[in-house]
Amino acid sequence: MAACHAPPPAPEPMAEFVLNVHDIDEDGKDYSFPLTATWLDVALAGCELRADASAEAGVGKVDVRAQKNGADIVVHGTVHAALIAQCNRCLADAPVSVDAAVVALLTARGPGLRPEADELELTPEDLDREFFTGDRIVLDDLVREQLILEAPMQPLCREDCPGIPVPEHLRPPPELASPSIDPRLAPLLALKQKGVLKSKKE
Ligand SMILES: [Zn+2]
Repeated sequence: MAACHAPPPAPEPMAEFVLNVHDIDEDGKDYSFPLTATWLDVALAGCELRADASAEAGVGKVDVRAQKNGADIVVHGTVHAALIAQCNRCLADAPVSVDAAVVALLTARGPGLRPEADELELTPEDLDREFFTGDRIVLDDLVREQLILEAPMQPLCREDCPGIPVPEHLRPPPELASPSIDPRLAPLLALKQKGVLKSKKE
């Protein structure tokens, strides 16, 4: 999960991934939405994540299937996004490819509608339960949450990133960098080399 420092900064709720309830029946309907860099950058602001605008296949997409289940709508599918995170070691750009599952049970809420869903084949624990009113289901928040959840917490620009190079004058002397010396004994070794400590034979 990515570390987010700020709540979603959307001045108005975003509504890019919208399903019309009247289009959805028991047989289900497939939706495929492209993810845009603009949407990603707004949705992920404050999370040290942004769209990878250089991604050849586009920055991503949302593929979901929506099915009617009584008065509820079950949505399941995937979201894929090509993102740029910050390398955990060297702070450079780290491209990350995020694939997340989107699963939600959407319950209609409004006057005249039952407050609780009937018994379901899918247990509610399996699903994120969301609510919708009217005839529109907006998946934007769900997509955002899943992307943040699946984004690596400690992204690396590459597997063997050595981190920020240590400037010459701050590097330990080579003998201390040697793995044969217990680093806890390094201060003693340094004293010995300065002649402060003498071995008993001398
Ligand atoms: Zn790095």
